[in-house]
Amino acid sequence: MTYDPNNIFAKILRKELPCVKLYEDEDVLSFLDIMPQVEGHTLVIPKEAACDILQLSTTSASRLIMATQRIARAIKSALNPPGIMLMQLNGVAAGQTVPHIHFHVLPRHAGIDMKLHARQMVDSKTLEPVAARIRAAL
Ligand code: AMP
Repeated sequence: MTYDPNNIFAKILRKELPCVKLYEDEDVLSFLDIMPQVEGHTLVIPKEAACDILQLSTTSASRLIMATQRIARAIKSALNPPGIMLMQLNGVAAGQTVPHIHFHVLPRHAGIDMKLHARQMVDSKTLEPVAARIRAAL
């Protein structure tokens, strides 16, 4: 697959579109999912232009998983979920909807089902309180 520089995450990286940002450094950006499947549903994306795990350089892959672990720890500290689920989809057939590789970090509680994937958009203002809690734990 050829990387599309106009995908929505590329636009967020170029600051052409807003996001509810949690963390940024020279290699990665993390923000809340605008169609959260659970409260605190977070995305971690590399700055490298790569559609999926197959295209990502080894260096960027290492930095991406290290940042994902850091975010997962902050979510554990801020929200104290008993479980944390990582999800990473590659290709439309796997359910990937944005063709810029990313990890989903999903706080999970027994008995609370996840909402459907990428279906229901929320007002970004409603995400600010949970974003503030996660940021404070980073
Ligand atoms: P995937 O289907 O694994 O590619 O996941 C893409 C995720 O990006 C979905 O969970 C969407 O809800 C989320 N998403 C799409 N557009 C935005 C956006 N503008 N800001 C934050 N999250 C988004």
